[in-house]
Amino acid sequence: MNFSKLPLTQEMLQTIDSLGYKEMTLVQAESLPFILQGRDIIAQAKTGSGKTAAFGIGLLHNLDVKKFRVQSLVLCPTRELADQVAKELRRLARFQHNIKILMLTGGESFGKQLGSLAHQAHIIVGTPGRVLKHLNKESLELSNLKTLVFDEADRMLDMGFIEEIESVLSFVPKERQTLLFSATYNDEILNISKKLQNNALHVKTTEKEVENKIRQEFYKTNNKIETLIQIFSTCKVQNVIVFTNTKLEAKELAESLVKNKIDALAIHGDLEQYERNDVLVQFANKSCPVLVATDVAARGLDIKELSMVVNFDLPHAQETYTHRIGRTGRAGAEGIAITLYSEYEEEKIEQYQEDEKYHFLDASTLKKVQGFEMKPQYVTLVIEGGKKDKIRAGDILGALTGDAGLKGTSIGKIDLYDRQSYVAIENALIDEAYKKLKNGKIKNRKFSAWVL
Ligand code: ADP
Ligand code: MG
Repeated sequence: MNFSKLPLTQEMLQTIDSLGYKEMTLVQAESLPFILQGRDIIAQAKTGSGKTAAFGIGLLHNLDVKKFRVQSLVLCPTRELADQVAKELRRLARFQHNIKILMLTGGESFGKQLGSLAHQAHIIVGTPGRVLKHLNKESLELSNLKTLVFDEADRMLDMGFIEEIESVLSFVPKERQTLLFSATYNDEILNISKKLQNNALHVKTTEKEVENKIRQEFYKTNNKIETLIQIFSTCKVQNVIVFTNTKLEAKELAESLVKNKIDALAIHGDLEQYERNDVLVQFANKSCPVLVATDVAARGLDIKELSMVVNFDLPHAQETYTHRIGRTGRAGAEGIAITLYSEYEEEKIEQYQEDEKYHFLDASTLKKVQGFEMKPQYVTLVIEGGKKDKIRAGDILGALTGDAGLKGTSIGKIDLYDRQSYVAIENALIDEAYKKLKNGKIKNRKFSAWVL
């Protein structure tokens, strides 16, 4: 299980150490030795089991940094997932100089991507549609590709990316390594593996991984919103994802919760890229305790320390159920998964009733609460300046805390993007922080700022 047993460079071992990865996760231990040998792999492992680092370490190992051509392509189902993968790859590459990782996803300016591509890259992380568009326009060239990765392959198939994937294949060399990662394993996945891969090694760790500690409760109710609020007030949860089956429901539920003084935001496919980012940042930095999401929008997001997951709508399949609740109870902490169903949905939960790990409880026994509110710990301040303006987290911290400013402890997470930064500020101090930024400077420059 020890990374040092692998034929990795000293730099890579140092990076792994600096990230605090003490030993390999199961899926890493079972796949990495073979990935490093250049074999094709099809791997199935639970959410949060470290799949990104498994293929990430592999493709960085294979990279010839001096050859400034695209050598690895990682395809992901969504922009958010691509963003997370790119971030993890950048972390893994931080001690290797001059590795260029470029994201190509939909919802971003095509022209800007053209500009970045003109400067070449080693690794591309993208969504199938946008990558194909660049291939067709010949702005992306893959004749030097060594490693092709499909992350969350099952989801890409679910989302109907099969044609794009097949077209992308016509642009890549036949001689290559193909890695396929999927949370589920079915005929469709095995078929696509046969098409894409060559003598692939099957790695399946789902059974062996220790079950996450998740308490799974089911409540029958004819007023789901009321029950949900009662549960929130009883459990005193910090951050919750509530799942609905459709975009519209996600939006409406978030609105109803806000009317009931529960601070909530919705994330779904209809949001613009910047809106999605605003929402995800606020949820992750504790500026919003409740995120209402559809499965597609939430898939693959690695939000740590989630204390509760709620199935507001019953998932259509057991697989979806497993995926949703897998987001809580990570890293040893106990999580709670709540499922709400109405009397009309009883038939659909019969399959769960036979298993005693599911606790069936009576919603009418929940305490009625008056005046319950859920407010976030922080509020997010947006600064119209980011990495491209050479702003670093320390500069922002300096501007807020310097000269009789805020205490460092009043400031939460800082997220830097190319042209924007987000800072979480202790709820009660937001006005003070805003004034300080508005009247002050960061690195001797004025930046506009606003409160989300
Ligand atoms: P998956 O893709 O399997 O859902 P991720 O790749 O997103 O999981 O990894 C989940 C989290 O685990 C990430 O925060 C990642 O940095 C961390 N991680 C990955 N490998 C290790 C390791 N060997 N030890 C500890 N943490 C790890
Ligand atoms: Mg993943």
